[in-house]
Amino acid sequence: MSDVIVHDPRFNALHIGHARLEKLWTGCRWAEGPAYFPAGRYLVWSDIPNDRMMRFDETDGSVSVFRQPSQNSNGNTTDRQGRLVSCEHRTRRVTRTEQDGSITVLADRFEGKRFNSPNDVVVQSDGSVWFTDPTYGIDSDYEGDQAESEIGACHVYRIDGQNGAVTSVIQDRVRPNGLAFSPDESVLYVVDTGASHVPGLPVTITAYDVTADGRTVGASRLFATCPDGFFDGLRVDRHGNVWTSAGTNVFCYAPDGTHLGTVVVGEIVANVCFGGPKRNRLYICGQTSLYSLFLATNAAV
Ligand code: MG
Repeated sequence: MSDVIVHDPRFNALHIGHARLEKLWTGCRWAEGPAYFPAGRYLVWSDIPNDRMMRFDETDGSVSVFRQPSQNSNGNTTDRQGRLVSCEHRTRRVTRTEQDGSITVLADRFEGKRFNSPNDVVVQSDGSVWFTDPTYGIDSDYEGDQAESEIGACHVYRIDGQNGAVTSVIQDRVRPNGLAFSPDESVLYVVDTGASHVPGLPVTITAYDVTADGRTVGASRLFATCPDGFFDGLRVDRHGNVWTSAGTNVFCYAPDGTHLGTVVVGEIVANVCFGGPKRNRLYICGQTSLYSLFLATNAAV
């Protein structure tokens, strides 16, 4: 039985026929937020309810605790300097871990009000940090500390790379979740998992045109609708294909929105990330476990 399903012939150029999905580690309650560190050849990810971040060492396959407590961290990424950028549920903030290990708070409020619970994050080439702010970390005590929303809405924000100013860039999502730029950063993909709070709402990916100055977004269009379960996190490869969690699978969409192929994982998938020295290894955070699959494509950056 193959680990992938080809829906469109274009997918044949993206996957490797004899590559297999590898289960690398298990033991998480909710694995999320994979981020790859090329210099150290390791992957960091979040185990949100267990309040810890884990580290997979690619050189020997070992797994250890990277940080605990993690403030119920969720989405992670690396910036262009290779620094870890994290969304923290309990502290309701976005942080950066510096080269010396100290932690800098990039943002913890908007117009004087605390964020809900930053969920996922991406860094623009100019160093600006875009993140989503749904309520999953304050809805209950399971993934953070239960609290009321101070802002009263779930927006996408941008932290300016030059002056640190926080602006609200997207206000029309119910529960914005994963997000990623196209390779040329002209499009921002944003998942909406509002169905968690509004039964019957489609789980979608919306494509927003990024304005020429890179500071906000303009027109948007529906990019994809999840047929079963939820999208959550997503990454884009160098050809502009979108790799996203989709229920118990990973889906690959072409830039035109065509569903090209499926990686069958078999448990709920939260997020994915490209890693390996050639960035051709897709790391997959399933609910309890970390997986990987070598591909015939590479990360966009
Ligand atoms: Mg998420």
